[in-house]
Amino acid sequence: MYIKQEEIVKYISDKPFRVISEVADELGMEAYVIGGYVRDIFLYRPSKDIDIVAVGSGIQLAEAVARRLGKRTHLSVFKNFGTAQVKSGDLEIEFVGARKESYTCDSRKPVVEDGTLEDDQNRRDFTINALALCLNRSRYGELVDPFDGLSDMDNLTIRTPLNPDITFSNDPLRMMRAIRFATQLGFFIDPDTFDAIERNRERISIISKERIIDELNKIILSPKPSIGFELLDRSGLLELIFPELVALKGIETKEGIGHKDNFAHTLMVLDRLSRTSDNLWLRWSALLHDIAKPATKRFDKRLGWTFHNHNFIGEKMIPGIFRRMKLPMNEKMKYVQKMVTLHMRPIALADDEVTDSAIRRLLFDAGNDIDDLMKLCEADITS
Ligand code: ATP
Repeated sequence: MYIKQEEIVKYISDKPFRVISEVADELGMEAYVIGGYVRDIFLYRPSKDIDIVAVGSGIQLAEAVARRLGKRTHLSVFKNFGTAQVKSGDLEIEFVGARKESYTCDSRKPVVEDGTLEDDQNRRDFTINALALCLNRSRYGELVDPFDGLSDMDNLTIRTPLNPDITFSNDPLRMMRAIRFATQLGFFIDPDTFDAIERNRERISIISKERIIDELNKIILSPKPSIGFELLDRSGLLELIFPELVALKGIETKEGIGHKDNFAHTLMVLDRLSRTSDNLWLRWSALLHDIAKPATKRFDKRLGWTFHNHNFIGEKMIPGIFRRMKLPMNEKMKYVQKMVTLHMRPIALADDEVTDSAIRRLLFDAGNDIDDLMKLCEADITS
């Protein structure tokens, strides 16, 4: 991965970067842009969230920068976290002092102390997220890449900077983040890193549901979400965070008659729908449309495998799943329930002798969401 120095400097040429540079020099502080913003320069992805690490007080630097930027600049200081945010135009800039984190086996909470840039890079999750660009004038745009993140970027690899067992054990959410980045960016997870996810998967239980669902929603909103669900499944994480989905796996055969693997089918429906819709809740509907198939599965000598009423039972399962996962229990959930209940109705209309009243009833039940329902239905019948 090679981008000319002048190219890199272009990405940090807006006024706020210049001001941070001047102010940091005046305060005699080292300052770096770090993390996602730098990674995204190399991925040619536009990014508006900027993280600045100061070797010293991030808050002091942010306050001085906000003063210098003047009008239309908004400063928020979070003393307890030692961070500050400056909003300037459409840029959001987070400031933090470089930190060193040490964890003890018996506590989830790290001991946090002031540290060097290197300490701060060591506590980052992946090599591609640990890249830093210096903003001080004498080294403006110099890349600090201690873990060879650029090679990992070239090889499309997600790898932890330290021993992955340490990185994941310290903050188990990073296991979900590894899978999320692999899905969003189309990267591979380095085999040692992946093995460590399998080994440390049980530690996901110490992570709050809110943090987990944030990552899961980002996987669902990726271009091809099945990549993430397959990785979650292979690593053993899916069983722990979403057992209902794992229950869809497998094919049973009786009297020579099998049924399709509903896990593979669900992922195919989700991928297909994702080509036509970015609506998170419609994507959730795809994920849940057959969720009650295991609960309703019967073998009938005449009909073979049946899943009678799986749409209605699925609708009933949704509040329990949403509550446990800390998803919103509001009109968004009701929308998902509606999609799941109705998902077979358009197909039934195509099969039967269509009556005007049946069509009118469907239009009435689906209301303004009829187009979404048709998208879901189309993804379902073609998968
Ligand atoms: P996105 O904006 O898509 O969520 P990102 O990596 O650009 O992804 P953040 O999640 O805000 O943005 O994280 C910013 C940076 O902070 C990351 O690039 C990484 O260096 C660091 N980081 C964030 N979360 C963690 C974590 N759990 N463990 C270690 N480092 C983290």
